Amino acid sequence: MNFKRIIVWFRNDLRTRDQEALYKACQTGAEVIPVYCFDPRHFEATVLGFPKTGNYRTKFLLESIQDLRKNLQDLGGNLVLLRGKPELEVITFAERIGADAIFFSEEVTAEERNVDKPLEKAAWSKGIATESFWQSTLYHIDDLPFPVAQIPEVFTQFRKSVEKMAAVHSTYPQPSSINFPSKDLIPLEGTLPDITTYGLEEPEAEHRSVMQFDGGESAGLRRIQSYFWEEDRLKFYKETRNGLIGSDYSSKFSAWLALGCISPRTVYEEVKRYEKERKKNQSTYWLVFELIWRDYFRFICKKHGNQVFHIGGIKHQEDSWRRDNADFQRWCEGQTGVPFVDANMRELKYSGFMSNRGRQNVASFLVNDLGIDWTWGASYFESQLIDYDVCSNWGNWMYVGGVGNDPRENRYFNILRQGKNYDRNGDYVRLWIPELSKLNGFGIHHPWDLSTAELKSAGVILGATYPQAMVDLEGVY
Ligand SMILES: Cc1cc2nc3c(=O)[nH]c(=O)nc-3n(C[C@H](O)[C@H](O)[C@H](O)COP(=O)(O)OP(=O)(O)OC[C@H]3O[C@@H](n4cnc5c(N)ncnc54)[C@H](O)[C@@H]3O)c2cc1C
Repeated sequence: MNFKRIIVWFRNDLRTRDQEALYKACQTGAEVIPVYCFDPRHFEATVLGFPKTGNYRTKFLLESIQDLRKNLQDLGGNLVLLRGKPELEVITFAERIGADAIFFSEEVTAEERNVDKPLEKAAWSKGIATESFWQSTLYHIDDLPFPVAQIPEVFTQFRKSVEKMAAVHSTYPQPSSINFPSKDLIPLEGTLPDITTYGLEEPEAEHRSVMQFDGGESAGLRRIQSYFWEEDRLKFYKETRNGLIGSDYSSKFSAWLALGCISPRTVYEEVKRYEKERKKNQSTYWLVFELIWRDYFRFICKKHGNQVFHIGGIKHQEDSWRRDNADFQRWCEGQTGVPFVDANMRELKYSGFMSNRGRQNVASFLVNDLGIDWTWGASYFESQLIDYDVCSNWGNWMYVGGVGNDPRENRYFNILRQGKNYDRNGDYVRLWIPELSKLNGFGIHHPWDLSTAELKSAGVILGATYPQAMVDLEGVY
């Protein structure tokens, strides 16, 4: 088709490199108008009382949009900012400027599909063409060795098949320039909202945070540069990835991947370059292995649709969950009285991030020890995580909640044993729970087993300075 004026509608693909929609639009020679639309539904309150998008992620999103606008401007373009429901606003804007096509990324989950389907329909009724592109995974959906309906339910089968039978495409280059229309057509590009527009406060700087996460493609690429090349951490990734403290135990790419500021294929190409230029080992393989987990959850969501958000999950299990608000609040606030859980939940609350090890433990504690509705936990993570990704989050929660496709029946994490394996001296707990910081060694993980004298000398009174544990974990490690 010969288009004259194409809107590239950005969603969770906030980048200029390996951005097929943008690249292909520029290749046509048409005028290209990049657009982002702030959807008020993303910032509504949930039924549980917290905002759907909390302040860490909102800040990261705003920074990412700002960076995208700057990168597009450097290419001679711009980013038009709209506010409202994209299925209405993007269409109204397209009509106003006489666009004849809208290019965008394909999404897989319900809320996103409930936007792009009506958008496509409205565009069609007005004679505007639409083209969607699959852009968020390492392996392209068209390259999978099976149709979506037959995607293996078990991760290992999925991984082995794609590793053996599919290839990773090379990345699309950044367009050399953008043919952006004149000011007469687009006099106002729209201003960036402030975080307070959404009733949120700017998050306070937290010195204990694993690192500072700045939103945007530029910062994402800098993180790849620093983690792989300057700090040279990739070759140790497999040994350090279960860490809890600091910036370098794992890549921390997740927030940039979630909003599409960097693509998994860009990461993959850098891994391959690192393997050639520095070292190829189990660790370099393992980072790609983790990216395949990310792919897997996206394809499982594509296959199972709305079931991934249902209480019974894709196993259609019976609903036997507790819905105790007070207990749930204690979990959210990091006041369960179980130090390893509380340290992780406070890290999430005060920094917007939590390690993979932490996520598995706190999720298991909520569902297995407290028996609380797993979808509540997933919703809280959705609000709070700076790297929230709909498929990775709900997919992992289904897994831990035992309603996903885990071949193991019961993925129970023994919190104290985990604490012993991953935080033997209690440094992580000490970092996030200052009221226990004077307790020595591993004792900090199980204050209920300590003598009154030991507690007293550390200034701890259980039930007063730190909560009594919500569950009985005595002697089980
Ligand atoms: C209950 C629960 C909820 C989670 N919610 C999210 C979420 O909303 N967003 C998110 O990106 N990840 C989520 N994860 C997966 C994982 O914890 C994070 O991706 C990881 O901790 C991010 O840190 P990193 O970038 O340093 O990871 P690294 O260890 O450096 O891994 C590299 C990349 O691989 C991917 N990855 C790693 N582990 C997983 C995994 N288990 N599932 C899917 N992708 C993975 C991520 O994109 C990550 O950036 C969740 C895990 C659990 C157990």
